[in-house]
Amino acid sequence: MITLALSKGRIFEETLPLLRAAGIEVLEDPETSRKLILTTNQPEVRVVLVRASDVPTYVQYGGADLGVAGRDVLLEHDGEGLYQPLDLNIARCRMSVATRDDFDYAAAVKQGSRIRVATKYTAIARDHFANKGVHVDLIKLYGSMELAPLTGLAEAIVDLVSTGSTLKANRLVEVERIMDISSRLVVNQAALKLKREPLRRLIEAFASASPK
Ligand code: ATP
Ligand code: MG
Repeated sequence: MITLALSKGRIFEETLPLLRAAGIEVLEDPETSRKLILTTNQPEVRVVLVRASDVPTYVQYGGADLGVAGRDVLLEHDGEGLYQPLDLNIARCRMSVATRDDFDYAAAVKQGSRIRVATKYTAIARDHFANKGVHVDLIKLYGSMELAPLTGLAEAIVDLVSTGSTLKANRLVEVERIMDISSRLVVNQAALKLKREPLRRLIEAFASASPK
């Protein structure tokens, strides 16, 4: 049996065409079914639905043989025991710093200064400001980051941006782009040895079908 860990939503939707290219059709729709284990047309392949940030954990400990996870999630998780053979180029967005439109970010990040930043992505944010030589007070949030600069909780946020419309609706501006984000295939290292052939075929099919 091959177990693939996916999260509901964009990663599931954007992985479907890759599975199809490998001859795999998922037989249940996670938007209408409450099942967490989905069968496919291949009796030897199943999909498990987990939280986006739990995908690396499932794959690392062998709860799944492979999975699809965002670069953001992988950077926040320490990827011990995870093989990352492929950038799938799906679920593309960017990690950025945003502030209120009336905030002087350039002045706030002059070398040696201090800034208060709210984010779900504390590892990425810590690294980014350390590289700039800016002292950062990080406030960990789990969602609705846009609210932080509006309420005075923080001066800036570090968050994923795709169209920018959520920022705009909250009168925030993207003041710095930290990195481009896409989702990657992650594979359990023991599974790669024990189920070498079927996993190799799957990885190859994903590689040739993934957007360029
Ligand atoms: P959860 O909803 O379980 O708390 P999450 O909100 O991080 O987790 P999703 O919103 O499903 O999960 O995002 C999954 C992945 O998709 C993210 O880790 C990121 O790599 C990518 N992603 C997030 N937002 C966007 C976006 N607006 N456009 C494209 N890709 C995105
Ligand atoms: Mg979400």
